[in-house]
Amino acid sequence: MRVFKFGGASVNSVERIKNLADILAQYKQEKILVVISAMGKMTNALEKVVTAFFNHKNEEALSLFNAIKEQHLGTAKELFSENYERCAQQLNDFFTEIEWLLHDKPIKSYDYYYDQIVCAGELFSTCIISHYLIEKKIINKWVDVRDIIRTDDNFRDASVDWDFTLARIKAEIIPLFNKFDIVITQGFIGATDENESTTLGREGSDYTAAVFANMLDAETQTIWKDVESVMNADPKQFPEAISIPELNYKEVIEMAYYGAQVIHPKTIKPLQNKNIPLYVKSFINPTLPGTIIHNQIVRSLPSIIVLKENQVMIEANSKDFSFIGEQHIGHLYHLFEQLHLKPNLTQNGAISFVGVFDDIKEKIDKLASTASENLDVHIEKGLSLLTIRHYTNDLFKKLTEKKNIILKQQTQETIQVLMR
Ligand code: ASP
Ligand code: MG
Repeated sequence: MRVFKFGGASVNSVERIKNLADILAQYKQEKILVVISAMGKMTNALEKVVTAFFNHKNEEALSLFNAIKEQHLGTAKELFSENYERCAQQLNDFFTEIEWLLHDKPIKSYDYYYDQIVCAGELFSTCIISHYLIEKKIINKWVDVRDIIRTDDNFRDASVDWDFTLARIKAEIIPLFNKFDIVITQGFIGATDENESTTLGREGSDYTAAVFANMLDAETQTIWKDVESVMNADPKQFPEAISIPELNYKEVIEMAYYGAQVIHPKTIKPLQNKNIPLYVKSFINPTLPGTIIHNQIVRSLPSIIVLKENQVMIEANSKDFSFIGEQHIGHLYHLFEQLHLKPNLTQNGAISFVGVFDDIKEKIDKLASTASENLDVHIEKGLSLLTIRHYTNDLFKKLTEKKNIILKQQTQETIQVLMR
């Protein structure tokens, strides 16, 4: 058994969906559970629908949603020669459900509506792909993952109920593989015990795939991406970035922690628990070897660079020159948690605490105003945070040349600097 995950970029056009079919066609006779994301940019587009709806702009929400509908129907129309009607019928059932909701007034939390609306992206994409594969004689079974993955009701960041989900996989998914080689389902979404849709956090499809891989005792999981493999830096920022053929689980967690957009960090644990190797491969050129991620020690890694732009530094000083103690810091961390803000770097001094964050304006404003009740707060925006793992002094020098370093932290493996 294999588990494949196809992300938004791998299904965002007619060509790419055809390409996905070509990849699956190369794995005849294998049992594959395929987890698929929403078509690229659709989750963002659906987020806009949620915001309009929540701000009582029902007309705007409906018109934004209409554009999303048209886009999916347009893709389906172009893709199919025979199965269009069947696919459109299933899509229309999903559309109607969302449209009903969009006519209502919001009376529950934003996060609740977010999940009821945003989950549609994955339902639409998998519906189209499953029907297309059938048309191409790649027999498969489409599954609504909300019948399988049970979560709590922490909307937008729901936690999987491991026992219940495992029981569902044993009862529903494993028997399907007696009849079908390919099962198609959605990443990122689940449902509560009251059948409310939930989501597992942005980019959560990698994690869904890992949950399935763990519970199905898969031999391997493969994440198909638009890059040739995991790279040692983002090639958009560093064109000289190189491929890393082999990594271990721990290094990937470290990379994700420092902000490398490789793999959702929650993905690793379920795989590590069952020692399931994770492959990252290019859907554009599947013959390339990609990256293998496993439990073994990997020697001689290249320096790994993560550059985060658009960072905000918040400096909080005690008002009366007293030490910044556990109480202040505890209070600040409580605020971060409430706002779902994760500091990318922190530093404590005698009378000051410094935190560095992604610049999410509403959250930073709220943080600053609340923290100012007890502390003197200063903010500086427009900074960059550079992290290098397995650094060399030469590389560090090169990347910080002509920059104004505000803050620096260093361990044996990792160096981080905040720069102006
Ligand atoms: N579609 C979701 C997102 O864009 C989940 C995913 O792609 O993994 O965040
Ligand atoms: Mg994605």
